[in-house]
Amino acid sequence: HLPKNELGTLGKAINRLAEAVQANISKREKMEQIRREFSSNVSHELKTPLTSIKGYVETLIEGGALDSKDDAKRFLKIIEANIERITSLVTDLLRLSTIEANQGLISLESVDWKPVISEVLMRQEINLKKKSIRFNLNAPDSISKVMGSRKAMTHILDNLLQNALNYTPEGGSITVGLTQKTSQVVLTVEDTGIGISKRDQSRIFERFYRVDSARSRDDGGTGLGLAIVKHLVIQIQGTINVQSELNKGSIFTVTLPTPQT
Ligand code: ADP
Repeated sequence: HLPKNELGTLGKAINRLAEAVQANISKREKMEQIRREFSSNVSHELKTPLTSIKGYVETLIEGGALDSKDDAKRFLKIIEANIERITSLVTDLLRLSTIEANQGLISLESVDWKPVISEVLMRQEINLKKKSIRFNLNAPDSISKVMGSRKAMTHILDNLLQNALNYTPEGGSITVGLTQKTSQVVLTVEDTGIGISKRDQSRIFERFYRVDSARSRDDGGTGLGLAIVKHLVIQIQGTINVQSELNKGSIFTVTLPTPQT
C-alpha cells in the first residue's frame, strides 16, 4: 500500500503520461492527414494538365486539326504550356523534398544580402519593365553580413520578388529593404499589390495553398513557392512573416542573424 499523497503523485504522473500518449497519437494522425492531402493535391495538380494534353493529342490524331496548320500549331502550343506546368510542378516538388532531406545538414556561411539583391534584380528587371512596376531599394551602405546560404537566400528573394510581381497590378511598385538590428538583419519585400486577407495570411506558407487558384496557375504558379521559401528560411535558421492589407499590398519580412564576432 502506498501512502495517500504518493498515490496522488502516481495518479498525476499516469494522467500526464496518458495525455502525452494522446498528444502523440493526435500528432501522428495529423501528419497522416497532411500526407494524404499532399498526395491528393499532387495527383490533382498533375492530372489537370495531363487530361488537357490527352484531349488535345486525341483531337489532333482523330480530328481534322492536322489539316489546318494554324489549328495544329494552336493545339501544340497548349500542349507545350501544359508540359511546362508539369515540369515546374515536378521541379518544385523535387526542390521541396531535397530541402526536407537536407534539413539540419546545411552549413552556414557569412553572406552579404546586397549582391544577392543585385543578382535577383538583374534577372527580374525585364519583367518589372514589362509591367511598368517601379522598383526601389532601401538599404543603408553599412549593413552587416548575415549567417545564411547564398544559394538559399537567392532562391528566397527570387521567389518573394516573383510573387510581388505576379500579385501587383501594372504601374505599382516593389520595395526591397534592409534594416540593421542589434544581432540581426531584416530583409523586407514590399509591394503595392492585391494584398492578402488575415485569414489567408496564416495559410499561404502551406503547400498548394492559394488564395485564387485560377489566377496563380495563369501566372505559372505551382502553389509551392512559399512552402519552399519557408523551408529554406527555417533551414538557414531565420524567420519569415507577412503583413498585408487587401487591395493595399503586402510586406514579407525575412530575418537572419548576423555572424557572431
Ligand atoms: P503561387 O505559385 O500560387 O504563387 P506561393 O506559394 O508562392 O504560390 O503563394 C501562395 C499564395 O499566396 C498565392 O497563390 C497568392 O494567393 C498568395 N500570395 C503570395 N505572395 C503574394 C503577394 N505578394 N501578394 C498577394 N498575394 C500573394
